[in-house]
Amino acid sequence: MPNNYNERHPPVSFRTIPKIMKFLEKEMQKKPEIFFSVHDVARDIVERMAKGDLIDKKSDLALRSQELKNRKTELEIEMLTQRLAFRSGLASASVKLKPITINQIPENNENIRSPYDESNKRLQCIECGCLFGWKNKDEYVEKMGELKQHLMLKHDRQFNALEREVIDNLTYEGDST
Ligand SMILES: [Zn+2]
Repeated sequence: MPNNYNERHPPVSFRTIPKIMKFLEKEMQKKPEIFFSVHDVARDIVERMAKGDLIDKKSDLALRSQELKNRKTELEIEMLTQRLAFRSGLASASVKLKPITINQIPENNENIRSPYDESNKRLQCIECGCLFGWKNKDEYVEKMGELKQHLMLKHDRQFNALEREVIDNLTYEGDST
């Protein structure tokens, strides 16, 4: 335990430059009730620095700079992740399109087979191959009804969508060959 005043309160003396001296004087003038001399200001600064109450401006800046760099990296990673997710989203979206395309193709050939044989100008049942030809326009009209009746009686069904469309849009092109 120090027993004399000099040991208990060791004096610190240092020389400085005019700029620092002016700073100390200004600080002293700001709080004249606390600081009676520039030495009081200098001691206050050193003591606060020692307690950790004063933050080193440069190290503070370096810390904030590092924080900003970290944040920037985080954002870059986030953006990259989103971009990758977006791309993989597009990839999976295009993969998902395939089954839809497949589903648009009818399950069996019946749906895409026309009952009208254009080269021979006659109708043919797509179920059993039964032919419906005509020798004149009146017969041609009759055969439309006959095919419909044939489907109902022999195959227990009505025209499918394509058959309906073909029959509705068919025009007399001449007698069957
Ligand atoms: Zn048939």
